[in-house]
Amino acid sequence: MAIIKAQKGTKDILPADIGLWHFMEKTALDIFSRYGAKEIRTPIFEATELFARGVGDTTDIVNKEMYTFEKSERSLTLRPENTAGVVRSFIENGMHRLSAPVKLWYKGPMFRYERPQAGRQRQFHQVGVEVFGIKQPTADAEVIFMATNYLKALGLNNLSVEINSLGCPDCREIFKSKLKEVLKPYLSEMCPDCQTRYEKNPLRLLDCKVPECNEIYAKPEIQSVIQSDFICDDCSSHFEELKTYLNELKIDYSINKLLVRGLDYYNRTVFEIKSNSLGSQNAVCGGGRYDSLVKNLGGEDTPAIGFAMGMERLAALLNEKMEYKTHAFVISNNSLEAIKLTEEVRNAGFSCEFDLTNKKFVKQLEKASKVAKYALILGEDEIAQNKVTVKNLETSEQKTVNRDSKFFI
Ligand code: ATP
Ligand code: MG
Repeated sequence: MAIIKAQKGTKDILPADIGLWHFMEKTALDIFSRYGAKEIRTPIFEATELFARGVGDTTDIVNKEMYTFEKSERSLTLRPENTAGVVRSFIENGMHRLSAPVKLWYKGPMFRYERPQAGRQRQFHQVGVEVFGIKQPTADAEVIFMATNYLKALGLNNLSVEINSLGCPDCREIFKSKLKEVLKPYLSEMCPDCQTRYEKNPLRLLDCKVPECNEIYAKPEIQSVIQSDFICDDCSSHFEELKTYLNELKIDYSINKLLVRGLDYYNRTVFEIKSNSLGSQNAVCGGGRYDSLVKNLGGEDTPAIGFAMGMERLAALLNEKMEYKTHAFVISNNSLEAIKLTEEVRNAGFSCEFDLTNKKFVKQLEKASKVAKYALILGEDEIAQNKVTVKNLETSEQKTVNRDSKFFI
């Protein structure tokens, strides 16, 4: 019979790799807790409308990448990202009544129907943070610190932080119309996607990956609009203050005027963290401020900023294997004594195993050296004297001690 395989763009996370995932998850809990963020877990599927309104219907995510299905005449979608779900929960649970800032973090699977390739899956995982209720750039700085400190705690370097300001709806309108004006003569040479973007969301033109479009956008008259400081005084002082915090805390960053991010809801600060060690899918983190989203989804007017990181891309950078070793392996030809000691050690808080098949002593020792840090040897003498021989399997040192649960410490 033909075997059933995992779906294209999905992957099992096998026991050999799970240590890495636990490490990424534990580090997230540790680092984000230091900033006062609490974990939130929202459902994997939501009403399709949440993403249409919350992510934006000019985005690739909503237009091409959603897993949408009908159940009981409702249109549901597997979450392609988690900001919309977290915002829905923030509103539904009245979290605006909590004292600001409300700092939330999440981890979990996301689903996007895209072409699978290295660093790009259809079911992938993100870890992310959302901070609600603060309009000042102190929150922008804190969120960027959370991201960079998390990456640092994972031991990742060779990363670059890029920031940009998209301005507010007012100053951006002026920029958009200037951009449209200079690009008008080239409209027919642009890719079909960019022709649509030109009408619906011209800022996203800058995000295009098609070489012909990039050539157009590299023209001097167009660059002079892109590189101009279009943002208004308020937006500009917000951005300057953020830069001061980043400079003072020695965050290495650069300004990328082409950084517009894929989602529709961002305003003012956007940022991305890229790895210099990954191939073309080199963005590990994307984030930004979204001051109008809570209101647009029916909540109280609440400023917010957040980021999401792709965990498969982090895992690819953390290429060392973190295989778990059992702490101790009991070796004995007396199964009953082996069972007893194994349970004693487990009850004392350590991982412990014994040979369930009662193989020869030497075979047991061989197995122990593969899977464990210590061998606990119970020979006839040890059993008679109520002792145990503890062998360090890395250094081969051994000593015989009384059989109590403190011999590891
Ligand atoms: P890209 O430009 O690579 O498609 P994006 O702008 O769609 O990224 P975001 O929506 O900002 O990505 O998601 C944040 C992070 O999630 C990305 O920086 C990336 O690390 C990760 N990510 C996004 N899509 C995928 C995917 N299909 N497979 C694996 N990781 C992904
Ligand atoms: Mg994408």
